[in-house]
Amino acid sequence: MEGERKEAPAIGIDLGTTYSCVAVWNHSRVEIIPNEQGNRTTPSTVAFLDAERLVGDGAKNQIAMNPANTIFDAKRLIGRRYSDSNVQDDMKLWPFKVIRAAFDTPKIVISYKGQTKEFLAEEISAMILGKMKETAGAYLSKVVKDAVVTVPAYFNDSQRQATKDAGTIAGLNIIRVISEPTAAAIAYGLANNITRKMNVLVFDLGGGTFDVSLLTVKGGTFKVEAVAGDTHLGGEDFDNCMVNHCVKVFKRRSNKDLTGNLKALGRLRVACEKAKRILSSTTETSIDIDFLHDGIDFSLKFTRAKFEELNMDLFNKCIQIVETCLNDAKIEKSNVDEIILVGGSTRIPKVQSLLQELFDSKELCKSVNPDEAVAYGAAVMAANLSGEGHMSVRDLCFLDVTPLSLGVETIGRVMHVMIPRNTPIPTKVTKVYFTTEDNQTFINIKVYQGERARTTDNHFLGMFRISGIPPALKGVSKVKECFEIDADGILTVTAEILSTGMTKKLVISNANGRLSKEAIEKMLKDGESYKLDDQEYMKQAEAFNALKELIYTMKNKINDKDIRKLLHPDHLKKVKDTIADTAQWLEGNQGAAVDELQGKKVTLELDWMSLI
Ligand code: AMP
Repeated sequence: MEGERKEAPAIGIDLGTTYSCVAVWNHSRVEIIPNEQGNRTTPSTVAFLDAERLVGDGAKNQIAMNPANTIFDAKRLIGRRYSDSNVQDDMKLWPFKVIRAAFDTPKIVISYKGQTKEFLAEEISAMILGKMKETAGAYLSKVVKDAVVTVPAYFNDSQRQATKDAGTIAGLNIIRVISEPTAAAIAYGLANNITRKMNVLVFDLGGGTFDVSLLTVKGGTFKVEAVAGDTHLGGEDFDNCMVNHCVKVFKRRSNKDLTGNLKALGRLRVACEKAKRILSSTTETSIDIDFLHDGIDFSLKFTRAKFEELNMDLFNKCIQIVETCLNDAKIEKSNVDEIILVGGSTRIPKVQSLLQELFDSKELCKSVNPDEAVAYGAAVMAANLSGEGHMSVRDLCFLDVTPLSLGVETIGRVMHVMIPRNTPIPTKVTKVYFTTEDNQTFINIKVYQGERARTTDNHFLGMFRISGIPPALKGVSKVKECFEIDADGILTVTAEILSTGMTKKLVISNANGRLSKEAIEKMLKDGESYKLDDQEYMKQAEAFNALKELIYTMKNKINDKDIRKLLHPDHLKKVKDTIADTAQWLEGNQGAAVDELQGKKVTLELDWMSLI
């Protein structure tokens, strides 16, 4: 059927740690697309049940019942190593299992249809992107292909690549990856029609990540001057502080440790998140959970003051990061014209008051919906790139920067920076290196990302060897190295032996955490098969329900006095028996094949028809 449908305009997707949002430029404006539940944001959650896979609201709603097979936070794993200290810390709190696979890659282990399955974070993110694609497709009644996807400004190259790969696995053509705060500023700029040059600070505190960007905005031009942030700071950390506090209180009261009880932790997490939201508008609430652990109920009064006390270090960390960003941009705080709040966690009053204090009581801008601004901006960008929309969209000009310095390792494991952080992208930098030994025939080029002086303290991106240098005295042969960052923030490194013209490119392989083309293709196929599984499940469920419904209707009919009068007692008994047999069969064969269920239904219908 899809082949007959027209192609949709490019969409914008905010792939959030906890929630995702999709938007499109339609009818001369941006429309935020509601999901099938009518919600404008969709939980970035995937659940595996005995017979089906759920993505979004359905998955989040059953999390307390099925914690080990409900995956959230995939964005915290994407593009990271298993041994990364952030991954190790997160794992302690996740109710699902993560293992170390080849090349130190983390894999999520779940049970689905009675079998153990392993997934990469890219595959889980692909399921969420697939859901957003479907949501947009259903809303527009068109086939969705092209999309702009957002990532935190602080995402490094591996994380951006992995996000792009997730899009490919979901069957999307990712036309651009943009930073979330840039997207939010685009939304803000468009909504407010800025004509003079303004310094805009975007404070984006979501579920799992924190980004601060300092942009200059004028007319349709957005230039990122500096970015700072923490890929591991957000609402879930505030939830975790609350959960930890509750675990301690429970232990104190009952002398029982519930940290091993995944279901209890899951229920506690849901209750804490709910309480946290309430505390943004009231000063006191309570957490009440029946039979939390070992049959013991849990009830705790939670004040806003307690919530703030538990999280004060994290809130202060946010403020310090804002100061770093201002320093990097060399902009005085008094010169910041607007402070835009993005992300659900910016609704926390203490976060707002600390930020306001830092800027000497300046009013914070809240005109952009914090949950939707990023997707809104991504949709504007999508329209801009695909030539849709009116002049105000097509004339926009985007200048992003690289969030981290990029360089090569030189003697003594020293990081030699080729592209300093906050350089506007796309960019290309070339440098000529000389051989350092006599008769040197090759050079190993090790590429790193980060701000530390020693390469061992930075993030290793990859390595390649250029060989075939003609033997000569040291310092004679020259190799030209070129670092090029494209508009998505993705890096290509090439090296050329100047005397021979031989060139070599950095091929980012599995060993670097990047997926191979083959692996992506396999995942694409797997993704399709999960979709087929889901469709199969739906068909089976429909056939099961149809038969159940028929049994119910027929039972009612034969109990109806008027109908009974019309039937011969023998016939009545026969049909009663058939109904009872079918009901019993259905009870014992809940997972029966669609054909079987439909066959039983037809038999029952024919039996009935033969009577009347
Ligand atoms: P986002 O990733 O931007 O959708 O933000 C989601 C995060 O915002 C989650 O951690 C939510 O718990 C949090 N959040 C949403 N609404 C509120 C609120 N009213 N008060 C505090 N946190 C909130």
